[in-house]
Amino acid sequence: MNPTKTRCLIIGSGPAGYTAAIYASRANMNPILYEGMQRGGQLTITSMVDNFPGYPEGRMGGDIMEDIRQQALRFGAEIREGEILSVDFSKRPFRCTADDGTQIEAETVIIATGASARWLGLPSEKEYNGSGVSTCATCDGFFYKGKDVAVIGGGDTAAEDATYLAGLCRKVYMVHRRDQLRASQFMQEKVFATNNIEMVWNHIPLEILGEGDKFSKSVTGLRLQNVQTKAEQTLAVDGVFVAIGHHPNTELFEGQLELDEEKYIVTQPGTSKTSVPGVFAAGDVQDRQYKQAITAAAGGCRAAIDAERFLKQC
Ligand code: NDP
Repeated sequence: MNPTKTRCLIIGSGPAGYTAAIYASRANMNPILYEGMQRGGQLTITSMVDNFPGYPEGRMGGDIMEDIRQQALRFGAEIREGEILSVDFSKRPFRCTADDGTQIEAETVIIATGASARWLGLPSEKEYNGSGVSTCATCDGFFYKGKDVAVIGGGDTAAEDATYLAGLCRKVYMVHRRDQLRASQFMQEKVFATNNIEMVWNHIPLEILGEGDKFSKSVTGLRLQNVQTKAEQTLAVDGVFVAIGHHPNTELFEGQLELDEEKYIVTQPGTSKTSVPGVFAAGDVQDRQYKQAITAAAGGCRAAIDAERFLKQC
């Protein structure tokens, strides 16, 4: 099978990928975008987004992503379902292979593979994953209607998850390892103003407790330790939502691009240029600092402009 040739391959479909597709299409680069496993990225698993410009009343994250996707399609971007499984950045055109075996020869590549939720690393977390343990409140919250749950973390994701779950559950314990939230002031105020959220400060999870066998399991509690006194306590909960941040999705690029010690793609300051000329990165995959939908979208714009300029110089 002959490889598909493109001037610009975009890997990933969050705000960065779709925005790159809008700009690359309008620059006549005829981009092909692979959406990956989670079409639309992390925004599709959040609830209401109130801080994306252009939506004065707020809009559901999934709807924002569909809006940007439709905008990219309007300018002719080719958007494909599926994943890129391997890349070869050793020479141009770059050779990439999709999960259906399609070979792609790309003159430029924009990486927008985003980030994935981090796990605590407890063996019990693995054991009950999908049976009472989750990293996605909007996906799984429904199953805990009228029940008691715990959210682990003190950032914006944990605060959003806790307030979302408080609308469904009887009680939400928000368990944080310090005595101060990292979340934005707005989200903190929302958490503190919600009657059925109880803060559990200065505690770390030791074990997720549960019952059942491999066919049917459920969570019954969460064993915690006070980081100062070392005293332990158990919360009786039916679900545990882990919201302790994200790690960049860069496994595919290890050994091909320069990554930092936390595996984020290193870009030249003020640009989307990676260590390989012709390969650009945008959004959470290279952003340790801001990690907002709007900064990811801006990064996608920047990457498409950098790719266009690169092609003009070739
Ligand atoms: P953050 O990195 O901001 O927060 C992670 C939280 O988890 C911190 O409170 C951290 O504690 C805690 N934590 C980390 N590791 C552990 C561990 N092993 N055990 C216990 N607790 C742990 O991640 P978020 O996903 O919340 O947010 C990522 C970015 O996305 C941020 O920039 C945020 O502003 C943004 N965001 C924006 C939203 C919006 O604007 N609508 C919504 C959601 C996210 P500690 O504080 O002690 O480090």
